[in-house]
Amino acid sequence: MNIDPIAELLVLFICLLASTSTLAWGLMAYPLGIAPRASSYFSLGNMLILFGVLLTTLRDQTPSYLYWFGADMLLLLGFVLLRSGTQRLFRLPSSIKLDGALLFLTGSLMLTQPPSAEASDILGICFSFMAASTFLLMARDNLVALENTVKRPIAVVLLSPIALMGVVFALRGLLLLTEPTLKPHLVSIQNADAIPMLWLYVVMTLWINVIMMGNALTRLVQKMRQQADRDYLTGLWNRRAMQQQLEQLHQRWLRDGQAYSLILFDLDFFKQINDKFGHSAGDAVLVKTAKQIGKVTRAMDIFCRLGGEEFLIVLPTTNSHVAEIIAQKLQQTLRQSSLNWQGALIPISASFGIVTTAPGDTPDSLLALADKAMYRAKETGRDRCCSAQRQLGEPKATPSQ
Ligand code: GH3
Ligand code: MG
Ligand code: MG
Repeated sequence: MNIDPIAELLVLFICLLASTSTLAWGLMAYPLGIAPRASSYFSLGNMLILFGVLLTTLRDQTPSYLYWFGADMLLLLGFVLLRSGTQRLFRLPSSIKLDGALLFLTGSLMLTQPPSAEASDILGICFSFMAASTFLLMARDNLVALENTVKRPIAVVLLSPIALMGVVFALRGLLLLTEPTLKPHLVSIQNADAIPMLWLYVVMTLWINVIMMGNALTRLVQKMRQQADRDYLTGLWNRRAMQQQLEQLHQRWLRDGQAYSLILFDLDFFKQINDKFGHSAGDAVLVKTAKQIGKVTRAMDIFCRLGGEEFLIVLPTTNSHVAEIIAQKLQQTLRQSSLNWQGALIPISASFGIVTTAPGDTPDSLLALADKAMYRAKETGRDRCCSAQRQLGEPKATPSQ
């Protein structure tokens, strides 16, 4: 059979893109270890697409299950794997059972037809609708996942090539169903009529892989940022991240004069918990503390674990009176949240130090004042709140106990 040279070049280009993507995703999965499961799915998906396209080019006038049914199934399975990879990447529930059932149905329908050019329109219709549903559902997966991380218009732009691929396949299926004259443009990939469709496939293959790579790298960056800024045990901000945010808030206070407060607290007799119940119980107390206190803090508050069993809450636009009320609420919350550890109840309590901004303060001086107030709470019996006492001549915060 005569193959149009431009069509041949474009098919080669698609093969090159699919093989490069197979390799690139393979490298991402191993040895780089970037989203390894999702990357393996993308690598395998691209590989199946590559084999599917190669088998398609071998089609001629003689019937062949390998070149018709086999090629189509490999391509469709490749698309399904791209969808599974997307779901792995964004931690979405897997739809492999539904996709598998649809693929089985499509395959069964295809097997009712002879595997040759004679049935190419019906085979093309089955293929197109299965491919369309996979890409459209994959676009929906992307929308659900991206809406949580980027603004909706950006999410729409990012998923548009995938959605467009779905629309192209749906249109191909509809046109094959209603316009038999367009068959040479739509079914074959070997003649000159197929060139526009082939260009579309080239652009889409490139675009989809680039966007998916971008998504995988974005997830990696997010994970690294999370690890750099968060405490590994409780998931709260760590000291470094808190200091950055505190510095920003302080600069804002210097500009607009809106007072902010700090509440520093340290768990009482925490060493005894470790000694009596073990380090794991101590860790569980820290996690429970973070969870219970996290429920009471406001979205704008910066809640961090300074280290050990010491925590800090930075409260923007909060005066000393409100800070004291909040601290007392936190104190009550902890008192009421003992930990059930292997049948034993471990009581939790903490001592709180409160400070609110006053002229001349720096983030460090505020932290030192909160620390002093917290130690006063320890010294005067623990499980209580104390407000910072300033030196004579400086503004004083009112004690809460
Ligand atoms: P106080 O009421 O005076 O605060 O007494 P405390 O026992 O709470 O304080 P102390 O400073 O004597 O002991 C703190 C203990 O916290 C000692 C340390 O081994 C333990 N610790 C620090 N970090 C962790 C952690 O991440 N997990 C666990 N389980 N224990 C930790
Ligand atoms: Mg302690
Ligand atoms: Mg301590």
